[in-house]
Amino acid sequence: LDEEASAKAAAATADSGGPTIFDKIISKEIPSNIVYEDEKVLAFHDVNPQAPVHVLVIPKLRDGLTQLGKAEPRHAEILGHLLYVARLVAEKEGILDGFRLVINNGPGACQSVYHLHLHVLGGRQMKWPPG
Ligand code: 5GP
Repeated sequence: LDEEASAKAAAATADSGGPTIFDKIISKEIPSNIVYEDEKVLAFHDVNPQAPVHVLVIPKLRDGLTQLGKAEPRHAEILGHLLYVARLVAEKEGILDGFRLVINNGPGACQSVYHLHLHVLGGRQMKWPPG
């Protein structure tokens, strides 16, 4: 199963602390479909959407936040801002009545890109529990 294989591949990815594809998205070397941008964060459509609306919200400066599990007190402000921007994105995308935020943390949660990102998902009935 392709899905199973890709889940296993993602689960095998660990935090190397090295550069990620998101650096090139932030620098616009790789184009993305941007929903929202300010000096601190960027929000853009996921290239492999898992719902009719699937947007990623990321800090422009990673500052050690390869994953949420690495968060420290100095990150509190950017973490709050990311959450607020997720709400702005939900409003812009017209999904304020039903949306879900996901943060995959580490191999056990199939994190594949080690630059903190919030997934904003919606535009369909979301199921619970998630996989
Ligand atoms: P994770 O699995 O780490 O929680 O999520 C990483 C997300 O980044 C995936 O949903 C994947 O589709 C998305 N992604 C990976 N590479 C690119 C890219 O080059 N452009 C965009 N827009 N999304 C990407």
